[in-house]
Amino acid sequence: MRYLVLSDIHSNWEALEAVLRHAGGAHDAIVCLGDLVGYGADPNRVVEWARKEVSVAIRGNHDKAAVGLLDPAWFNPAAREAAEWTASVLTPENYAYLRRLPRGPLSVGQFQIMHGHPADEDEYLWDLATPDDVLPFLARPLAFFGHTHIQGGFRLRRGAVSGLEDVAEGEAGFRVALLPGWKYLINPGSVGQPRDGDPRAAYAIFDTEAAEVELRRCVYAVEVAQAKILRAGLPAVLAERLKAGV
Ligand code: ZN
Repeated sequence: MRYLVLSDIHSNWEALEAVLRHAGGAHDAIVCLGDLVGYGADPNRVVEWARKEVSVAIRGNHDKAAVGLLDPAWFNPAAREAAEWTASVLTPENYAYLRRLPRGPLSVGQFQIMHGHPADEDEYLWDLATPDDVLPFLARPLAFFGHTHIQGGFRLRRGAVSGLEDVAEGEAGFRVALLPGWKYLINPGSVGQPRDGDPRAAYAIFDTEAAEVELRRCVYAVEVAQAKILRAGLPAVLAERLKAGV
């Protein structure tokens, strides 16, 4: 079984379309780690696609903010403006879908999915400085998380923690072999608003038979997504940051 693992699409249709083309349909199911909406200009298109194509999705903080489950006063001004705009344009069906999204961590077959920290979906999982905060929540050897918009992750074994490499500049992918005895926390990166200095859309493929996760990057039409953000009247900073991937 091959899973396409997507996170933090953030209403960026151009990035999502490019990822789907790049993945080439070589997967059996799609899972989504939250933040379908927020920041970008195509919330309805992205949510309509998710309603049809995604097998399992959990909610992110921006999904919650768009449907009244989180006060956007906690956001920075640009994110807050985007959350309010998103709430005002979502169709009733898409609003209802986002409102029903479950909280992570959620088990999907052999692995788990979560938006942020397993103990609190809204907290960021930046490092594993204190693995004991995370380990009680890991019911499987593999978990996928998002929220930081930074591709990569960690592996742990008996108190030993190490970081995973991510995709090098100019490369399209990096394979992580899942070794027995280790637990893996893997971030596929953000489809629609990468923040690791690489503006390419990020995603992952999990191949259960090969016991391997491939982290991938692909270019997309950043200028088209930027133009839509500006045309929608959203803050210009949300368009600018896509170019730099920050
Ligand atoms: Zn996000």
